[in-house]
Amino acid sequence: MKRALLWFSLVSLGWAQEWTGRFESIRQNALDSDYSHRFLSRLCHQVGPRLSGSPAAAAAVDLVAEEMQQLGLKVWRQPCLVPHWVRGREEAELTEYSGKPAGVKAPLVLTTLGGSSSTGSQGLDGEVVVVDSFAQLEARQVQGKIVLFNTRFDQRVADQGRGGTAYSQSVVFRTRGPAAASRQGAAACLVRSVGGADYRLPHTGVTSFGEASPLPCAAISSEDADRIAYLSKQGAVKLHLLLTPQTLPDAPSFNIIGDLQGSDPQAEVVIVSGHLDSWDVGTGALDDASGVATAMQVAQTFRTLGLKPRRTLRVIGWMNEENGGAGAKAYDKETQGKNHFAAVESDLGCGHCLGFSCWTPPEWLPALKPVSQALQPVGASQLETSNGAGADISPLGARGVPCFNPLLDSRTYFHYHHTPADTVDKVDPVHLRQNGAALSVLAWALCSMDRPDSSP
Ligand SMILES: [Zn+2]
Repeated sequence: MKRALLWFSLVSLGWAQEWTGRFESIRQNALDSDYSHRFLSRLCHQVGPRLSGSPAAAAAVDLVAEEMQQLGLKVWRQPCLVPHWVRGREEAELTEYSGKPAGVKAPLVLTTLGGSSSTGSQGLDGEVVVVDSFAQLEARQVQGKIVLFNTRFDQRVADQGRGGTAYSQSVVFRTRGPAAASRQGAAACLVRSVGGADYRLPHTGVTSFGEASPLPCAAISSEDADRIAYLSKQGAVKLHLLLTPQTLPDAPSFNIIGDLQGSDPQAEVVIVSGHLDSWDVGTGALDDASGVATAMQVAQTFRTLGLKPRRTLRVIGWMNEENGGAGAKAYDKETQGKNHFAAVESDLGCGHCLGFSCWTPPEWLPALKPVSQALQPVGASQLETSNGAGADISPLGARGVPCFNPLLDSRTYFHYHHTPADTVDKVDPVHLRQNGAALSVLAWALCSMDRPDSSP
C-alpha cells in the first residue's frame, strides 16, 4: 500500500516523467556508442594481461588515466601495495600407473595457481590421492603425496543462468584446498579446473594459505582430472610436477579514479566501477575489462549529452581484485567518514544484462521503478534484492553504502574465466552496449534522485 502511494506521489510531482525522457536519451546514446568496445579493445590488445605488480598493470593504470582525462574527469591515483606473484614453468606428466605401456608419455595440461610455491627447478615426484571433498581429505593419509581435488563445476546450475552459484560451490576447493592439503602434510596439490567448458583448458585463480605452509599447486584440465580419477581406481598413480612461480616483494600500484564533479558540492559520491587487474593467462576481456569499459561508458554518455550530475560520478578501475583486494582495502581505509550515496561494480563478464541486484534498504526498489521501466526495452528491467556485492565494493556495502551489481547472464562466463581464452572476441559488442546503457541509466538515477524515504 505504502509503495503504491509513494509511486503515485512521485508521478503526481511530475519528476518521474522528467526522468523518463532523460533516461530514454541516456539509454539511446549509450546504445549508439562504440566507445566501450573501442576502450576494451585497446586495453586488452595493446596492454594485454594485467596481473597485479606487472608492468602491464602499471601500463593499464596509465592508459585509463589518459582515457579518463579525455573524458573530462578529474583523475587521481590512489596508492596501494599489491602482491607480486610471477608465473614460471608449469609442466606435469603421469610417470606410473597400472597398465602404462612402456615408452608412452602422458603429459597433463595445467596452470599454476596464484600464491603457489615452487617445486624447484627439478620438480617433484609423488603419488596422487584423489578426493572429492574436505571430509575425504581428512580421512586419507596424504603425507608426502600429491592431493587432487576432483570436484566438478556444475554446468547444470550455470545453464540456468546461475554461473555465480556454480562457481561458489566449487571454487572453495581452489581457494582453500591447497591449504587443507598442506596442513595434512601433502607435498603438492592439484585442483580440477573451476569452469564449465571442457576444451582441456585449465583455469587459474588465487589460492590462500593463511597460516599453512605454501605448497606447489595448480589447476588441471577437467579431462586430465577425469583421467587421473579413472587410473587411480586401477592402482597407484604417480606423476612428475614442475612449477616454478616466484613471490616477489609487494609492489606499489594504484586504483585509478576519475571524478565528474557534481553540481551540489555537499552531495555524496556515486561509484561506477570494474577491476583493472586481470589474470596473466588471457587478456582479461571478460574479467574485467568489460566491467571497466562499462563504467567508462557512463562518463562518456554523460559527457556526450552534456549532463552535469547533482552528485559526483566517480569512475573507478580497482587494482588487485584477483589476488588480494589491496585496492579495495586502500579505498575503504582512506574514505572512512566520507559520504557515498551508492556504489556499482560490474564483475561477472559481459553476458546479457537482466537488470541489477540491489544490496539496499527495501524502500530503494520501489523508488528505482523508473529505472526498471526505462531499461525494459533492452531487457534489463529486473531489480532484485541481494545481501552482497562485488568484491571491491563489499567493504562499502558493509559500511551501509547501498551497492548494486549488474545481473548478467552467466551461462558461458565460466567457460573462459581465468583462462587463456578470456580474450576480446568473447565480448559480444551488443551486450557491451546494452550493459553500458543499463549502467548509465542507473548511474544517472543514483546521481539525481532523492534518498528514498525510510519512514514507516
Ligand atoms: Zn573479476
